[in-house]
Amino acid sequence: MPDIVVFGSLNADLVLTVPSLPAAGQTVLGGRVQTHNGGKGANQAVAAARLAGAGQVRMVGRVGDDEYGRHLRADLAAAGVDVAAVLVDPTEPSGIALILADAAGQNMIAVSPGANGAVDDSDVARAAADLRAGDVVVCQLEVPLPAVRALSTATRAAGARLVCNAAPAAMLDADVLAALDVLVVNETEAQVVLGAVVAGPADAAAAACRAGCAVVVTLGAEGAVYADPDGRSGQCPAPIVDAVDTVGAGDAFVGALAVALAAGASLPDAVAAGVTAGSYAVTQVGARPAPPPAAAIA
Ligand code: ADP
Repeated sequence: MPDIVVFGSLNADLVLTVPSLPAAGQTVLGGRVQTHNGGKGANQAVAAARLAGAGQVRMVGRVGDDEYGRHLRADLAAAGVDVAAVLVDPTEPSGIALILADAAGQNMIAVSPGANGAVDDSDVARAAADLRAGDVVVCQLEVPLPAVRALSTATRAAGARLVCNAAPAAMLDADVLAALDVLVVNETEAQVVLGAVVAGPADAAAAACRAGCAVVVTLGAEGAVYADPDGRSGQCPAPIVDAVDTVGAGDAFVGALAVALAAGASLPDAVAAGVTAGSYAVTQVGARPAPPPAAAIA
């Protein structure tokens, strides 16, 4: 199977549960701070490695020379992700997400990118070093956009495929969009990245033709719609499940989609694998839910 390379962020998520979220200027007392290993890049790498098996997924990114960074790297390695290309940045601290959550499931999040914000062309060079034709490279937008642009050029030069999960949403230049193989966004990100509401296959087809790449838009409980740049489109409904926590659903979706593409699946089949993984993820609590049994996504 071709390799999967995840290029992106690693963050320590510091989560504090409070009775109600504070207003500006207000102080509230909460429980004990819980530290989780996170970052969209690392979450997607773990999701992919749990499905593809140890040694199939390489992570490229940066952590700080601190306790958080050591935990982030060790935890990824324990999940079967190759972390040789996760650089320990000598000057920047690890990325940290400060998360306030209330009992009703609402939250407030502020992120300090730290070492993720220092990701640049040298990281792209590490990612490109061992790339082979047919490999699947996955990125998100928690690292600087110039690095994503350079990654798209390097991926193309190697004959590999690039899946970009444009989260958090940011405007991508037209040439960067056109250099992607697959863009994955949720409904709100679609409005920023594609400049359009994508609610069904026809919308996805129009967006994919404009963007010049395949487009996949996840629609929560409605599953996902997809289209290729030639306008072939479809929708994959989600199974009805008992959703308890939607955190991590998008990352589970992207990880499973990448594994399916690397294994040679068509776009519709890879989207189906993503939907199965996303819908399984919402039945579990946490940003790194267990993947669905292999039989469920075959
Ligand atoms: P994000 O979490 O990135 O906003 P979505 O909410 O669109 O992304 O969810 C991603 C995927 O997770 C969906 O395509 C779907 O497969 C699954 N999913 C999310 N919410 C539900 C739900 N309530 N019921 C079933 N599946 C869900």
